[in-house]
Amino acid sequence: MNSVSFSQDKPQASKAQIAITFDLEMSRMYPTRDVMEWDYQKGNLNEPTKQYALEAAKIAQQRGEVIHFFCVGRVLEQPNIDWLKQIAAMGHPVGNHTYDHVNVWSTKPEQTQFRFQRSPWLIRGRSTAEIIHENIRITTLAMKQRAGIEADGFRTPGGSSAALNGREDIQQMLLDEGFAWVSSKYPPHKSSKFGTQPKEEVFASIVSALQQAQPYVYPTGLIEIPMSPISDVGAFRTSGWKLPHFLKSVRQCVEWAIENRGVFDFLCHPSIMYVEDPKFETVKLICDVVKQAGDKAEIVGLSSIAEQVRKATPQDTTQ
Ligand SMILES: [Zn+2]
Repeated sequence: MNSVSFSQDKPQASKAQIAITFDLEMSRMYPTRDVMEWDYQKGNLNEPTKQYALEAAKIAQQRGEVIHFFCVGRVLEQPNIDWLKQIAAMGHPVGNHTYDHVNVWSTKPEQTQFRFQRSPWLIRGRSTAEIIHENIRITTLAMKQRAGIEADGFRTPGGSSAALNGREDIQQMLLDEGFAWVSSKYPPHKSSKFGTQPKEEVFASIVSALQQAQPYVYPTGLIEIPMSPISDVGAFRTSGWKLPHFLKSVRQCVEWAIENRGVFDFLCHPSIMYVEDPKFETVKLICDVVKQAGDKAEIVGLSSIAEQVRKATPQDTTQ
């Protein structure tokens, strides 16, 4: 792996880079735990999800900050997408998150998405690679045609601790689709049992995992910008955390990034956050902690992080 390690990166990084990212999709078990239908309709955003995304975008903008959104292409089939156009018009970057929320690590066509298990005619006769490629390609197209938005980067649905390491085929496909970076890695860390108080060792494990969530360059030249733990999915859906636990962990992680001039790529879903954090406390907390750090840290979109990685890459002799 041709990685720019965290310590090598350190002399170049003048500031910690913090990203706030929102994946625009519906999430199973929200707003109530019995709801599973979203697995088949990831892009059919409900009203509170759209409102939360828009309101968070306004809160960040008022503070002079950006949120990096990732859009599932099927969102663009909805009758009204003014909210998304408004978000883009405020200057927030919006990336590609595939059309149907397909799993790029799948090895069989029907494994790519639940929708295709119920409706196999949609993928009939196509290979796994063809389905994934098409799902990415038409999302870029839909964003451009329907909303006038140029896709800013690509995030894989789901994350993997293996990232796209050894998957030069997918790396190359993303480069061919015009992406300079991908956000696909989610590092392993300890978890608490559902519904129990997370212990200090769990919080510590999450902070420690940030070292495995620093950006690096793949052999193909594609840049990886991992998702930083803990996501809202891991905290609220999987572990049943309460908001104060989540805020504590996020604060610890942002502070680690600031102290170490590292990267923190916060990941959440408005479809979960409108239920778990209706007052936008997490977004406000991140903005506050970064502001208090003065010139030691900045909130950026993921393309700015990729740019920093490119500058710090020893192989790049053009600098
Ligand atoms: Zn997703």
